[in-house]
Amino acid sequence: MTMLKVENIDVFYGNIQALRDVSITVNQGEIVSLIGANGAGKSTLLKTLSGLLKPKKGKIEFLDKSISGKQAQSIVKAGISHVPEGRRVFANLTVEENLELGAFLRKDKQGIHQDMQKVYEIFPRLLERKKQHSGTLSGGEQQMLAMGRAIMAKPKLVLLDEPSMGLAPLMVKTIFQVIKDINNEGTTVLLVEQNANMALSVANRGYVIETGRVVLSGSALELQNSEEVKLAYLGGH
Ligand code: ATP
Repeated sequence: MTMLKVENIDVFYGNIQALRDVSITVNQGEIVSLIGANGAGKSTLLKTLSGLLKPKKGKIEFLDKSISGKQAQSIVKAGISHVPEGRRVFANLTVEENLELGAFLRKDKQGIHQDMQKVYEIFPRLLERKKQHSGTLSGGEQQMLAMGRAIMAKPKLVLLDEPSMGLAPLMVKTIFQVIKDINNEGTTVLLVEQNANMALSVANRGYVIETGRVVLSGSALELQNSEEVKLAYLGGH
């Protein structure tokens, strides 16, 4: 089943066009990766999906309902949660308070409590540090917290922007394992990564974005075997 359908969107920052005629789909249960160089437009696409930017042209449908031009809050309510680049946790709040904020649109106290326990099971490190200010966490721990906060919104689709950025290899492995686990438990994932190797290793399908356009798409295997992708994004191996 198609969960997210993006059709021919154009997105601008003032006069600068960042996305040109972009179309992608994400099916329920998939991990889909967007790969592309710095500045290609990947973050812009995620920001548009979560309502932070408005497309000038084109359509975005989530679960058969139009969400283009909707406010960020109603998009979260519809079931899309965004983990932005650079994590953006609230440094002066504790780990626990950050997680609570992730659930701010929910009313089901029992469910919120259960999901909090679930996040602590996924990331035991966050449990150990739940009373600590988030600003004191390491980069990897902040990434865990940002992902935990997204889980607290009980999303159907999670948008992950560069989760591996700046992390040590062992932490990258942990984060990618969690991405697979979250997906196995039923959450659909749209992943933006400059680390194309990692991104394609967990994905079902992928799209390559260059200067605001989708230039290639296919199964993760097809992309991993594509000469073009190997040369430009997989270190030429
Ligand atoms: P990165 O991994 O560096 O975030 P990206 O593929 O996510 O790269 P975007 O951040 O989406 O790329 O940027 C796409 C284009 O839009 C770039 O040319 C960038 O310079 C431009 N851009 C991004 N944010 C703004 C902004 N606030 N104002 C003007 N131009 C912007």
